[in-house]
Amino acid sequence: MRRSTKHSFMQAIPLSNLLRYTLDLYIRPSRALAKPSYLQISTTSRCNLACKMCNNQRLRRRASLPLEDFVTILQHAREVPIIVFSGIGENFLHRDFLDMVDLCRQEGKYIQVTTNLNVGKHRLEKLLTYRIDLIDVSIDGWDQASYEQIRIHGKWSLLIENLQAMSQFIREESLPTRIRVRLVLSRYNADRLIDFVTLMERLGVHAIEISPLTGAVHKEVRAVSSYTTIVKALRRRLKQSSVILEAQKVSNVKAINRCPYPYRGMYIAETGAYLPCCWQLHNPRYEQIVHEEFPFGSLKDYTPDMAWNSPPMRHFRRMMRLGKTPDFCRGCVLFKGAA
Ligand code: SF4
Ligand code: SF4
Repeated sequence: MRRSTKHSFMQAIPLSNLLRYTLDLYIRPSRALAKPSYLQISTTSRCNLACKMCNNQRLRRRASLPLEDFVTILQHAREVPIIVFSGIGENFLHRDFLDMVDLCRQEGKYIQVTTNLNVGKHRLEKLLTYRIDLIDVSIDGWDQASYEQIRIHGKWSLLIENLQAMSQFIREESLPTRIRVRLVLSRYNADRLIDFVTLMERLGVHAIEISPLTGAVHKEVRAVSSYTTIVKALRRRLKQSSVILEAQKVSNVKAINRCPYPYRGMYIAETGAYLPCCWQLHNPRYEQIVHEEFPFGSLKDYTPDMAWNSPPMRHFRRMMRLGKTPDFCRGCVLFKGAA
């Protein structure tokens, strides 16, 4: 069935909360009327890869969210329908990661997991037995050379083997899990996208998410053809396919006082720091922010339900409503006025 991952993500959110969220976007109150729709959790900053465009390699200090803290988060997030396991490290390197997923399953959450898939098959199958909803795999390359050139220490053969095994396991066990592969368009992959798509179709992935490469720092690897032209060509190619193309919108289209993130959900870093969105993952100051500055407090200061409308969050929303760029947003390429 062709159903976008965004569609099932949205379906997990109660209608009453969606209505309050819509109202929030319209009146932009400092105290949000809606509950957070999701919590995005960075379980660890440890990683087995050193991808070229990732902030992870800059980190000098590593941290992992203790299981006890995760339990506290869940106890205070009963009304949050979605848990996204995605941050600055590889989830599978957290020794309690599977227990965390198990707890979310017992709570009936919609579960989304990001992984580089350079992991053992046994642990991967164990993850799937928790009937997670979506597994996200960032790839970026289209063959061994291009993949391993970008994802340092990554093994193309292991990735492909795991993708294949995973889709087979999902089919055989009739699991609800959907596999989405992610690709950031760059000069290195733009002319081989059709080959990439054909391979992903063969491997049985459900969706491909493509996004443009943004930010001045990456100018040298930007794709030669226009992003919109490439997306159109891919849409034509996938018209009759079972694979869905999910193309991210081109950024820099809205003013900062239109940013919806402070009303959508929260990011919790591996140190327990709360943030209003995951933009800081791209900030060279990430380590300082989540280890020292805690601009929105941390689990030590607030439980997740309190953090959502905490004084720093309310001040942040107020600034945004007035169109003033909060320090937190400086450098964000998603909204005008932030960069
Ligand atoms: S992009 Fe993901 S896999 Fe690559 S270094 Fe960063 S956290 Fe690790
Ligand atoms: S950093 Fe960007 S995405 Fe995050 S709240 Fe600010 S403007 Fe929105």
